[in-house]
Amino acid sequence: MLLHAPSVYDFRHESILYGPVSDLVPSTPVFEMYPIGLTTIAEYLERHGLRVRIVNLAVRMLDSDSFDPEKMIRQLRPAAFGIDLHWLPHAHGAIEIARLCKKLHPDIPVMLGGFSSTYYHRELIERPEVDYVVRGDSTEEPVLQLMQHITGRPGAPALADIPNLTWRGSDGAIHVNEIGYSPASLDHVLIDYSYVVKAVARYRDLASFVPFKGWLGYPITAALSVRGCTHGCRTCGGSAAAFAALHNRRRPAYRAPEDLAQDIRNIARFSRGPVFILGDIRQAGPEYADRFLTAIAGYHGPVILELFDAADREFIQRVAAAMPNWTLEISLESHSDEVRAAFGRPYKNSSIEDTMRHALEAGVQRLDLFFMIGLPRQDYQSVMDTIDYCEYLMRDLDTGSPRRLIPFISPLAPFVDPGSQVFEHPERHGYRLFARTLEEHRQALVQPSWKYVLNYETEWMNRDQIVDSTYEAGLRLNRLKARYGLVDAAQAQRTEARILKARRLIAQVDDIMSIQDAERRAKLLWAIKPQVDSANLSTVCEKTELNVPLAGIRLNLPRVAYFFIEQTLRRRRPTMRSDKVTN
Ligand code: SF4
Repeated sequence: MLLHAPSVYDFRHESILYGPVSDLVPSTPVFEMYPIGLTTIAEYLERHGLRVRIVNLAVRMLDSDSFDPEKMIRQLRPAAFGIDLHWLPHAHGAIEIARLCKKLHPDIPVMLGGFSSTYYHRELIERPEVDYVVRGDSTEEPVLQLMQHITGRPGAPALADIPNLTWRGSDGAIHVNEIGYSPASLDHVLIDYSYVVKAVARYRDLASFVPFKGWLGYPITAALSVRGCTHGCRTCGGSAAAFAALHNRRRPAYRAPEDLAQDIRNIARFSRGPVFILGDIRQAGPEYADRFLTAIAGYHGPVILELFDAADREFIQRVAAAMPNWTLEISLESHSDEVRAAFGRPYKNSSIEDTMRHALEAGVQRLDLFFMIGLPRQDYQSVMDTIDYCEYLMRDLDTGSPRRLIPFISPLAPFVDPGSQVFEHPERHGYRLFARTLEEHRQALVQPSWKYVLNYETEWMNRDQIVDSTYEAGLRLNRLKARYGLVDAAQAQRTEARILKARRLIAQVDDIMSIQDAERRAKLLWAIKPQVDSANLSTVCEKTELNVPLAGIRLNLPRVAYFFIEQTLRRRRPTMRSDKVTN
């Protein structure tokens, strides 16, 4: 049983002004989206004879105030509970759900996994509610071996022989096995969601598998081109240096380009939503990109591509010819070459603006640009200058109609990633950290506003300035988007009203926090909960601004049913290779 916890358990009974921490990702501030690894682990275990169910507790709790996770967990009797603690914003929820599982089922093992679990494995295994931590970036095989051990399969390995495992022996001693499993490629996983389709039908439980609130109306999925990265963005826990230190990964593991193209085509059989290709397809070199574009050529569904560096005209035209319904995403972070370089992005404005021009010329459907607040060498004025730069881009680069260049800005929040260069050496990069341990982050998550949740500030902006510049930048960019016709007047007004309300509330929370009497403080915070809840969704922009326009039916349910039957029959054929699906 794989469980996905909300960021804070139980957020429904807390008064927390989350701020724009999740405005630019599909999740709400509860971070209900589960990591893609949950589905690859589930599919891998099923392929090896185990039955696996995923329950997205976070989305169930968001969907219904009356949903009772405790009641649901009490009714379950799995061989083991697995809980993802991949992103650190789940530090509170994941631990509380582990505690709940252990309280209700003391005899059932509880395992945790994910990047944050890997970083904090020693702290986690000290907790009585955690029996195992499975470390590394690819845990499909170690989890399978652990499950074979737990279920007493003949020939199952001893705990000491399971790679990547941190565990507690019967004498209480803690053992940390080597990270010996770090596959060189992604050939061992299947990333086309066929497992999810089958499991939904088997358990008749669509609600628990939904990846995030609103997904049925906008079924975006991800295709994974790589685990690892060749870049070194300073605050990223998925950088090359972090992968090497935490996951024993010296080189990224790539999905074979033809398999990546096939994954996308398989997804398109049941979903007409966009497929986000995670990872710059040029990271493995020009031959990889070329093979992928050859394999995907003629695909007409919506695809979102990300670039980590500038690209030349030839590459962009090749992408446009292969996947005409494409959106491009680039994270510029700042208008300033100096700030961007300090953050670790390798390109300058001149080359990335050329890339944008090539993309617009080649007919990109949308060009989404992401800027960030809380960067090294970035002060308040620099953030405002970034908004001026956004106007320049909207005005001078995208002169066509309808406009396709869409800038977004949000804070680096709530946490600098553990394992990133900034987290490991904050002073070297001009940062001050307020939380280092898992327990400190767990406690930070229940602070009453995102200002107090932030685990850092910089030499150039303290937490107040990060908050102030975020709201001011959000206001200015929203007005510019209205002026250039990227959002309509009514939507712009709604966004402006939300930002102003959030600004008032954060000041109110500050006032309450200055009260010495803890009981009175708690009472006053609870009293403003209705306003706080109403300001918690989409602060600096509406989530729909991120959506690629979709026409007609988004999920093809007859195709889902057909896909399910076909997959079941295929897997019963003994000659069928178990790790591939052909179209
Ligand atoms: S933020 Fe930078 S280091 Fe992290 S995955 Fe993206 S490109 Fe790689």
